[in-house]
Amino acid sequence: MQMFHNEIPQLRQQAYVNGEWVDAFDKSTQSVFNPATGERLGAVPQLGVQQIDDCIEAAEAAFYHWREVPVRERCALLTAWFNSIKAERKRLARILTLEQGKPYAEALGEIDYAASYIQWFAQPALLDIGAALPYGQQPLDMLVTSEPVGVCAAITPWNFPAAMITRKVAPALAAGCTKIVKPAPDTPFTALALAELAAQVGIPAGVLNVVTGDAQVIGERLTQSSRVRKLSFTGSTAVGRSLMAACAPTLKRLSLELGGNAPFIVCADADLDAAVDGAIAAKFRNAGQTCVCANAFYVADSVYDDFAQRLTDRVQQLQLGTGDQPEVTVGPLINRAALHKVEQMVTDAIQHGGEIRCGGKRWRDHGNWYLPTVITEVDASARCVQEEIFGPVAPLVRFIDSSTLLQQLRVQHAGLAAYVFTQNLEQIQRFVRQLEVGMVGINSGLISDAAVPFGGIKASGMGREGGRQGIEEYLETKYIKLNN
Ligand code: ADP
Repeated sequence: MQMFHNEIPQLRQQAYVNGEWVDAFDKSTQSVFNPATGERLGAVPQLGVQQIDDCIEAAEAAFYHWREVPVRERCALLTAWFNSIKAERKRLARILTLEQGKPYAEALGEIDYAASYIQWFAQPALLDIGAALPYGQQPLDMLVTSEPVGVCAAITPWNFPAAMITRKVAPALAAGCTKIVKPAPDTPFTALALAELAAQVGIPAGVLNVVTGDAQVIGERLTQSSRVRKLSFTGSTAVGRSLMAACAPTLKRLSLELGGNAPFIVCADADLDAAVDGAIAAKFRNAGQTCVCANAFYVADSVYDDFAQRLTDRVQQLQLGTGDQPEVTVGPLINRAALHKVEQMVTDAIQHGGEIRCGGKRWRDHGNWYLPTVITEVDASARCVQEEIFGPVAPLVRFIDSSTLLQQLRVQHAGLAAYVFTQNLEQIQRFVRQLEVGMVGINSGLISDAAVPFGGIKASGMGREGGRQGIEEYLETKYIKLNN
């Protein structure tokens, strides 16, 4: 049964610059495809260099007005945007499923999650961070205040086409910054639909812009411009590194949310039912394509066989299919390159001793499908343990002693998230202290929330999104010495 009777929602096929819907000056476009079927959905403009520069100029002009709009009014506009997204959540989720592939229920979940960032950052109290310092000659002669950073750019990935945008846009707008978003070329339609709602509720021209086109061209203009004061990027570590270098000449503020390689650790005293539930959520959500996805599973020797069997049983119950089918729980991979990478990693795992317990191959010819997979007895040197898989593949590594495991994990470059399942308080304290990551889930496979600081350390990047910390990324501190 299909839920949508093949009705395709209207897709905005123009970029949004300074309050106007625009085509490329030279009319060039970039096609967008449905990853579940390979079918072409439409196209977005491939904006030229001049149009990106014009957009930066417009965002700068808008900034000097927007920063003067009282905080409560800015937050009221964000609240109106939040309400309109909630009212349109089904249409937005359908667009998201069409271009990204995740099951409709998961897409609805993402739209709600995306909206929750706007609701969170629409709280004026988050900007209550000034101080009168008590160290001067008089009580009010040392003051600290904060100001918006200025024009900010966001370069976002395709795995969360809505949430990665709202969690970068909402804190910026609340703080008084203006924003230029470059969505991933695979998933621009969700971004444009969100911008359309922002325009409808009265967020002024130039405050939020969505530019589409060649990533390298747009990236170069945004990073080279001294008018752009901050870049927030979510994506691969390799691109993050090159963007950071490109921002060096203009010394931009940066938030980088890069690749993860989250270990999922199952200790000998873990509640195995909870661990399997956590594993399904942390590994197979979004077909394994999230940066906080559990990457490799490290399972204590004494419970290894039991956990492997229970996980395999559950994984075999997952339903692959196009996102418009209500029973579907796992969608396709985003594109052919992603499919090839997963295939290579599985081949490499087999060469490193891995035994396929389920899956281990493609599914269907059209679209980018890979079966949910469990591989046991994988050696820790395999690529799927050392690198981010970004697919529905769970390699299980055996461990004997947790101290040795912690030492092995410390040399990993990534430091985004980790999951630990244990009932022992001493173990919990040791893991929490010694895991070198930005976020730890204890007996929990789902950790994200608009109210908490999301982000990593080491090669997983810098800065935090969400929570109180999320707005600080868009504020500069100003100190005032005030003599009478
Ligand atoms: P992934 O490998 O997961 O697609 P990427 O880091 O390649 O991750 O992509 C994340 C975002 O970065 C996308 O919006 C993509 O278009 C953009 N991007 C990729 N390469 C560049 C580049 N050289 N300059 C600017 N943006 C880029």
